[in-house]
Amino acid sequence: MSDVLLLALLVAAIAIGWLLGRWESGRFRAPPQPPRGSLPRDYFVGLNYLLNEQPDRAIETFTQALEVNSDTVETHIALGNLYRSRGEADRAVRIHQNLLARPALTPSQSGQVQLELSRDFLNLGLLDRAERLLLSLQKSHVEDAQKLAAKRLLVDLFEREKEWAQALETAQPQLVRQDADIRRAAAHWHCELAHRHRCDNSSSLARKALRQALQTDERCIRANWMLGQIEWDIGHYRDATRFWQRVPEQDPGFTAIVLEPLRDAYRLLDDDNGWWQFLEKQLQHNPQTTLVMMAADTLRHRQGTEVACAFVSEQLREHPSLRGVDYLMDLYLDDSDPEERDRLELLKQHTRQLLSIRPRHRCQRCGFGAEQLHWQCPRCRSWGTCKPVTGLEGE
Ligand SMILES: [Zn+2]
Repeated sequence: MSDVLLLALLVAAIAIGWLLGRWESGRFRAPPQPPRGSLPRDYFVGLNYLLNEQPDRAIETFTQALEVNSDTVETHIALGNLYRSRGEADRAVRIHQNLLARPALTPSQSGQVQLELSRDFLNLGLLDRAERLLLSLQKSHVEDAQKLAAKRLLVDLFEREKEWAQALETAQPQLVRQDADIRRAAAHWHCELAHRHRCDNSSSLARKALRQALQTDERCIRANWMLGQIEWDIGHYRDATRFWQRVPEQDPGFTAIVLEPLRDAYRLLDDDNGWWQFLEKQLQHNPQTTLVMMAADTLRHRQGTEVACAFVSEQLREHPSLRGVDYLMDLYLDDSDPEERDRLELLKQHTRQLLSIRPRHRCQRCGFGAEQLHWQCPRCRSWGTCKPVTGLEGE
């Protein structure tokens, strides 16, 4: 719905609210009653602004004219929210704070206004004010649903502040149990804590945090990825391969991220057979481009370029991919004469150009594309939703 239409509806709601308010006050309070059918001057001024397509001034006028009573609280809250959604959170704060100062609010209305005011503060980046308000809301006598909403906002706030331990403390156990997104995020907060421990050279604390990540969400790829890194740091390459091999079991879509480190670990272990066995097993279930390229590299060293070329061609017939074609041209370049080489180099320029404009990773939630893998999407802030791109243009 367009903003203007929404504003017009809200203004209509205000007018109805005002009329109802007058009618109610007329019913329960003593006169003086306004002359029948009359409206205050502000109403006409506001209407005039609206007709002249000046919705901001119209709302300002209506808001000032509108008395806050039990019939109009919801409309005031909605007006504030509308300002916030239009990027004018400072105006939303004024409306919601004005409401909160009214003694007429019921506990439920007061809870609702405090929640909206917290959202305004979060929107403005006034995190300390939002935190104080949400913490007091948690301790006050408001509805359970409002306390839960306050808890969600607090979790969001601690996450923005990178206060991972506080985010975990607030989200556990209720939100982690109830909400799959928060459960997945909580596992990543454990991983963030593990990263800090790893930077402080506290590998045992880092391992503990990563085990907690897996207890929270057994599908947390990052936990096994980091457990492998910790073993790598101390030269335990065999243990590192065990953790990294779990990644394709958790989610085959992430296989590409462990291939290079696994190849390097097997090299340091001088275990070519172990590496080949891993590749063969993965190729059966999950023949992604990087996997095919790694297997072709191994074949080239063992049996020569021709065998590697035949293997890649066969894989491309089954699973076409631009990166696969680009790699196949690299193999052909190895054995080509000067004239062929020029033609292949020209073709490669095209594939390189096509590949350079395609992101390697994409968020499954919002479609954000990036060359690097982000554990938290920079656009929609979801955790674990960015994955390597698969199909013709990816893996
Ligand atoms: Zn996203």
